[in-house]
Amino acid sequence: MKKVALHTLGCKLNFSETSSIGKQFLQNGFEVVDFNNEADVYVINTCTVTENAERDCRQVVRRALRTNPEAYVMVTGCYAQLRPDEIAGIEGVDIVLGSKEKFDVFSFIENFEKKNLACIFVSPTEELTNEFGFASSSDADSRTRAYFKIQDGCDYKCTFCTIPLARGGSRSMDPGKAVEKFSELIDQGYKEIILTGVNVGDYGKNVNTPFYRLLLKLIEVPGEYRLRISSIEPNLLTDQILELTAGSDKMSKHFHIPLQSGSQSILRQMQRRYNTADYDRLIYKANKVIPGLGIGVDVITGFPGETEKEFTETHNFLMNLPVSYFHVFTYSERPRTKAINMPGSVDVAERKRRTNVLRIMSQKKKEDFYSTKQGKIVDVLFENSNHSGDMKGFSTEYIRVSHDFIPEYTNKFTKFRILSHDGENCYGEILENQPITV
Ligand code: SF4
Repeated sequence: MKKVALHTLGCKLNFSETSSIGKQFLQNGFEVVDFNNEADVYVINTCTVTENAERDCRQVVRRALRTNPEAYVMVTGCYAQLRPDEIAGIEGVDIVLGSKEKFDVFSFIENFEKKNLACIFVSPTEELTNEFGFASSSDADSRTRAYFKIQDGCDYKCTFCTIPLARGGSRSMDPGKAVEKFSELIDQGYKEIILTGVNVGDYGKNVNTPFYRLLLKLIEVPGEYRLRISSIEPNLLTDQILELTAGSDKMSKHFHIPLQSGSQSILRQMQRRYNTADYDRLIYKANKVIPGLGIGVDVITGFPGETEKEFTETHNFLMNLPVSYFHVFTYSERPRTKAINMPGSVDVAERKRRTNVLRIMSQKKKEDFYSTKQGKIVDVLFENSNHSGDMKGFSTEYIRVSHDFIPEYTNKFTKFRILSHDGENCYGEILENQPITV
């Protein structure tokens, strides 16, 4: 039996798509092995969001070839779609497949024999808008959390972003199909389904079903589970979705809402579709409609034109915002974006300093948020034990909880009283093993 090893760079959407590629290999008689093991075929699913992601891709190819210099190497994903020639030029790469082709690997590869020159199969990005490749993946070996792709591509024009270039326009999974696949995941035993995509809240345009209506259909599926939205643009987080989240135990009390900058002028330069006042209003409204809500925020530091003044605006804006944590990204110049030609480039060391400042603030926000939960009872979904013998889990608000390993509590919704935290995990007592009721 031939062996294949797969490696993913980038986001959870990529992870779910790698999983779909793995299934194609399984169906064709391959055994899937860990990437550190010797394999006949190595598959690398790439990202292009940051400079590092591209550098990482080169390193991963070299790592695979060190393990088995005779292995067949396939590279796909966003970097492959955007700059296939560059990847084909990496020594040892045998085939480069684009964003469309990765869903039909075996129609492009006759045999897995190494060649002197890499083959490239990459459709133009415009063609991607008619394609929707199904993908879902599990978070770990346990059947606790599954990432389920319902949307792909993006019609927005954020000036720093290459994703629309690599993935094409916004498109959605047919709602009937989405309900069917969602039900299958529940039947397989997954307890938390995370809806993923490039711009998840934009779901529905080509299938005539707004995101809110899809959510209504999904939470009608019977079973013991909860649903989480991986991320949603602030302009797409509607009152209806907030109210639905407040009123349904099936909806996680957590949103991840990209902000990117707390400076009005930088937001404009980024071509984001809201201003700081809109964002501020949304966060206060969400907290009011859903008390105790967990809110994560994406921020970029060092965008062109971000002087100390604009950074201070972002810093102060975030300082006053009632949210639970940030994901902070350091801006990096991406080819073919508008931002790369903008004046006011920020020194790279200064970008990193700003990232550190905001990461420290994020940690403080998280600790404050966890402190508000001390003495409170939350619904936790515990996963398998980790290396230290504890079991970890997340509450509906996306609070990380740790407890001594008790097998019967894994992959079950459990009432848990938070008694303390160390800034990373919350600790406390299990009250009962009680499924969420709707
Ligand atoms: S919303 Fe903006 S940042 Fe997000 S994928 Fe679309 S273009 Fe990129």
